[in-house]
Amino acid sequence: MATSGNGQVWALEQAADLLISCRYVIAMTGAGVSVESGIPPFRGPGGLWTKHGEPPLDGYQRFLADPQGYWQQRLTAPSEIVQALAQAQPNAGHYALVELERVGILRYLITQNIDNLHRAAGHQRVAEIHGNSQLLRCIGCSRRFVKEAIAIALEALPPRCPACAGIIKSDTVHFGEPIPQDVLEICVRETREADCMLVAGTSAVVYPAASFPQMIQEQGGDIIEVNLDDTPLTPLADCSVRGRFGEILPTLVELVRTKLTA
Ligand SMILES: [Zn+2]
Repeated sequence: MATSGNGQVWALEQAADLLISCRYVIAMTGAGVSVESGIPPFRGPGGLWTKHGEPPLDGYQRFLADPQGYWQQRLTAPSEIVQALAQAQPNAGHYALVELERVGILRYLITQNIDNLHRAAGHQRVAEIHGNSQLLRCIGCSRRFVKEAIAIALEALPPRCPACAGIIKSDTVHFGEPIPQDVLEICVRETREADCMLVAGTSAVVYPAASFPQMIQEQGGDIIEVNLDDTPLTPLADCSVRGRFGEILPTLVELVRTKLTA
């Protein structure tokens, strides 16, 4: 059931109090946060996969089998998502999370989104579980590179790592590809440390993301949920706020600031 009116005000108050009183707050975001910045979702009505079909479940294995073909397609026929990513801008919710980091409350942000919008907004401590579409990664040594740092020529594909000569792919994690170990280690480390997690724009049912709120709960920590609708996480949440990320987060952070200066 959606919270509204007085219930909503109460939920926001409770969320602000938790953010202030908890010792180590982290956040996790998902697709709902990006949709408000114009990035189409993958699933559901209007979703990219609904329109174009789900990508192959062995996408990473296909890449490994033919990295040259992958790069040729990427360079000559950019997909709808690539075009949407190029135009997307952070929304007010992204900036509110940056503010929460600046005031020292939000210690780390785990995101399932690949769109770079948290970093573009100025967020410093971000773990991107599914990679970052604006970066390239060497599958040999796992170094990340900005695109400009790698020579990419149609006649010499796939591009190679300047450090180890390994094959370069997008940092975005493909189906069938393991989550990069370094990112996973950060997520586990930060979640172990945390006593509160703010979860926004995700139902947190896809692993490994789903495991982090579960860890928080097992540790006796608090979960604050911000989402348009109820999700499978709602029964576990100590506090659920219903609404748009780009409206709720600025309101919540303003409330925190007011309480801190009162
Ligand atoms: Zn390398």
